[in-house]
Amino acid sequence: MRIFSVFGITQSGKTTTIENIIRELKKRRYSVGSVKEIHFEQFAIDKEGTNTYRHRMAGSELVTARGYKETDILFQRMLSMDEILKFYHHNFVVLEGVTDCNVPKIVTAHNTAEVDERLDDTVFAISGRIANDITEYKGIPVISAVDNIDGLVDLIEEKVFEKLPDFPPECCSACGFTCRELGIKILRGEAKREDCVLSDSNIKLFVDGREIDMVPFVQKILFNSIEGVVKELEGYKKGATIEIRMGGM
Ligand code: SF4
Repeated sequence: MRIFSVFGITQSGKTTTIENIIRELKKRRYSVGSVKEIHFEQFAIDKEGTNTYRHRMAGSELVTARGYKETDILFQRMLSMDEILKFYHHNFVVLEGVTDCNVPKIVTAHNTAEVDERLDDTVFAISGRIANDITEYKGIPVISAVDNIDGLVDLIEEKVFEKLPDFPPECCSACGFTCRELGIKILRGEAKREDCVLSDSNIKLFVDGREIDMVPFVQKILFNSIEGVVKELEGYKKGATIEIRMGGM
């Protein structure tokens, strides 16, 4: 999945930018998902007095509202972005207002002062109202999502790569960088997505159908443990694919 974030101050054109990007990506036949971060502490769909609220207050840990038009699964806490992204299986996922995720970013702004407050090495484009005034800032293209959505989505197709893991530096540095540093190098054209050693790893772990990222050290332990046991069994062939399915214990 190729994931990027669009963030910026309120009324800077963020949602319009995202709407137009989604429409254009769909026009180009990509599947698209999105995540909207709500910066409002009191936000909750589940209001006091509703039946789902009553389920929750009675102790239900996962409440689902199943209706004719939509199904809402109401988690009773804020999920991490990685937990949320496990539900997505799209070509592109657009994050609105998310800054704590290791993905390329587009800043929307009214002016350069607002850009400066948000600029870092993960920003590959600037958009929003500022695009009425300038076409480039500090070497970064400034592109209107209203007048030039083709140009903006061309750049997204060029720059946005399959999401990298986001391990702390002490867990993995097998590519010679941290996960975040490798992301920045890919954006600058100084590295490739395949430089992440997990890209061609020969062991994958799924829990309830969802892939779990494992640092190389853990991959190695798991691989050696499984291979150590399986090679003693009749039917083992070196280099063959091994599948193990485990139910609840
Ligand atoms: S090899 Fe992959 S997982 Fe390891 S630090 Fe580099 S990008 Fe992160």
